[in-house]
Amino acid sequence: MSLKGKTAVITGSNSGIGLGVAHELARAGADVVINSFTDRDEDHALAEAIGKEHGVTARYIQADMSKPDQCRALIEQAGRCDILVNNAGIQHVAPIDEFPVEKWDAIIAINLSSAFHTTAVALPMMRAAGWGRIVNIASAHGLTASPYKSAYIAAKHGVVGLSKTTALETARENITCNAICPGYVLTPLVEAQIPDTAKKYGMTEEEAKQKVILERQPSKEFATVEQIGGTAVFLCSDAAAQITGTTISVDGGWTAL
Ligand code: NAD
Repeated sequence: MSLKGKTAVITGSNSGIGLGVAHELARAGADVVINSFTDRDEDHALAEAIGKEHGVTARYIQADMSKPDQCRALIEQAGRCDILVNNAGIQHVAPIDEFPVEKWDAIIAINLSSAFHTTAVALPMMRAAGWGRIVNIASAHGLTASPYKSAYIAAKHGVVGLSKTTALETARENITCNAICPGYVLTPLVEAQIPDTAKKYGMTEEEAKQKVILERQPSKEFATVEQIGGTAVFLCSDAAAQITGTTISVDGGWTAL
C-alpha cells in the first residue's frame, strides 16, 4: 500500500497514538503534518525525525485544538489534507457532581469539537482532490461507558456519531470516514492514571496495570501505537474503500464482553 503523494494531518501527534499513527502513515509513503499546542524545538525535531526515517516531507504545525479558529487554521496552513486523523485528546476522572466545569468544556472541545472544525475545512480540500480519508480516534469508551469519565465518554460517543454523519455526507465522493476504537494503549495519557489507581487500590503500579486498568481488556495486553497506526493505514487503503461510517475496535476483546 503506497500513500505516496498524499498529505496526512494528524492532530495531537507529538506523543502517544498520534505520533505512532504519523510514523505508520509516513512509513506507507504519506507526507505528514504533526501537531500539538506547544511550539518547542523537540516538537519540530519529531517532524524532522519522521521525515528522515521514512523519506517523506514532515512538518510540525502548532495549533491548540481547544480553540475552533486554531483547529481550522491547522488545516488551512497544511495547505492540503488528503488524510485527516483526529486524534488530540485529554482525560479527566471525577464523579459527575464533582466534575470541574472547565474540564468538561476542555474535553468536549479537544476530544470532540476539534474534529468537527478540522473536518469542515478538510472536506472541500478532499472534494477538490477527488479522494479523502478521515480517521477519527475514538475509544472503546466511544462504545461503552465507565463511571467517572463522563466528559470523555460523552465526547467519544460524539466522535462515533460525527464519524457516521460525515460518512453519509461524503458517501458518493470517494471519501470515507471511520472511527478507530482502541482499548487501553500504554501512552502518557494512560501512564498518568497508573499512580493514582495504584494508590486508590493499595497496589503496586504493575498490579494496578494488570488487575485494574486491563481488567476490561480480555487479552490482558495493551494495544500498541503501531497497531493503531497500522489500522489507520488499512483504512486509507483501496481494500477499505467501501468501509465508511463504522467503528473498528482494537481492544483485545473489550467490546465482545
Ligand atoms: P497522549 O497524551 O500521549 O497524546 C495526546 C496528544 O494530544 C498529545 O500529542 C498532546 O500534545 C495532544 N493534545 C492535548 N491537548 C491538545 C490541544 N489542546 N491541542 C493540540 N493537541 C493537544 O495520549 P494518547 O493515549 O496517545 O491519546 C491519543 C488519543 O487516543 C486520544 O484522543 C485518546 O482519547 C485516544 N485513546 C487513547 C487510549 C489509550 O489507552 N491510550 C485508548 C483509547 C483512545
